Amino acid sequence: MIDLRSDTVTRPSAAMLQAMVSAPLGDDVMGDDPTVIRLQSAVAERAGKAAGLFFPSGTQSNLAALMAHCDRGDEYLVGQLAHTYKYEGGGAAVLGSIQPQPIEHAEDGSLPLEKLAAAVKPEGDPHFARTRLLALENTFHGKLIPASYIQAATDWARSVGLGTHLDGARVFNAAVASGKPLADMCEPFDSVSICFSKGLGAPVGSVLVGSQGLISRARRWRKMLGGGLRQSGVLAAACLYALEHNVDRLADDHANARALAEGLRGIRGVKVLSQDTNMLFVQFEPARCDALTAALANEDILLRAVYDGPTRLVTHLEVSADDVQRVIQAVAKHLR
Ligand SMILES: *Cc1c(COP(=O)(O)O)cnc(C)c1O
Repeated sequence: MIDLRSDTVTRPSAAMLQAMVSAPLGDDVMGDDPTVIRLQSAVAERAGKAAGLFFPSGTQSNLAALMAHCDRGDEYLVGQLAHTYKYEGGGAAVLGSIQPQPIEHAEDGSLPLEKLAAAVKPEGDPHFARTRLLALENTFHGKLIPASYIQAATDWARSVGLGTHLDGARVFNAAVASGKPLADMCEPFDSVSICFSKGLGAPVGSVLVGSQGLISRARRWRKMLGGGLRQSGVLAAACLYALEHNVDRLADDHANARALAEGLRGIRGVKVLSQDTNMLFVQFEPARCDALTAALANEDILLRAVYDGPTRLVTHLEVSADDVQRVIQAVAKHLR
C-alpha cells in the first residue's frame, strides 16, 4: 500500500516497537517516568530551550501552550488557515476562553506585518480583548517560512509586548529543508510544539518546549485537559527512537516529493500547483477525479483526488523512491 494522504499514516517500525517494549517506565504524573524525562530533556536541548513537556497529541500541546501564554479574555494573532486556528476544534476559544484573531496569509504563508500590527487592540480599553500572543506555523502546508520573515515578525511581536508560539508540528522538516539546526528554527519563539507522529514516524506524541515557567504552566493545563499520563514512557520511547533515527531521513521525503512533482508535471490532466518539503498540491482534471481515486486504490495507491480544489499528496517514511515511480506510472496510465 502506498498511502499519500498524510505523513500521519506511518506505523511504528519493528525497531521502534522494540524500543517501546524495552523502555524503562514510571508514573509520569508523579514525574517518575525515566523515558519521558529523557525525551523531554533531549528535545528541549536540541531545540535550545530550558524545558520540554510530552503530550499525547499536537492539538493538546498547542492548546496547553496557548493557555500558558494567554488568560481568559486574551487574544492571539494567528493565520486564517493555521492549524491552531482552523483545525483544532476551536479549542482555544472553547476550553481556553482565548479569542483567536485570524489574519489572512500572504502567498508564501506568512502573516504580513502590517496586518498583524493593525490587529493589535489598544491596551486598557474594555471594548477589546487583550492581544497577548503571535502564533505562527512552520512548515506551513509544507512551505518553509522564510527565516528573515520569522525574525522580523517575532522581533515586532516582542516590541509590542506579545509572546510568540510556533506550531512546529513539522519544524524538523523545516530544519532539514533549510540545512539548519532545530535550535535555529526555535530560537525566535518563546514556545514551540513539535510533533513526532508525522514524518518522524512515531504512533503518537508531541513535545512542547519553552522556558521553565511556561512549561510548568502548560503542565497544569495538560493535567486539566486530561493529558496527564502514567507510564507514558512506552510512547515517549517511540519519539526518542524517531528523534535518534528518523530526522535526517526527512531529506529523502523531500527528494521523493520533488521526484513525484517532476513525474506528475509531464502528465496531461495533472497540474502541479506547488511542491515544498514533503508535500505537493496538484489539481487533477475534475471530471476524472473519482475514477482516478478508485483506479489507484485498486492498485493499492491511496490518495483522494478532489475536483473542487487542490489534492494534497504527502511523502513519508513508508513511501520509497520506487513507490514514487509506481505512482507516476499509475497516474499516467489512468489519465491516458
Ligand atoms: C498534525 C498537526 C498538528 C497536531 O495534530 P495532532 O494530530 O493533534 O497531533 C498541529 N499542527 C499542524 C500544522 C499539524 O499538521
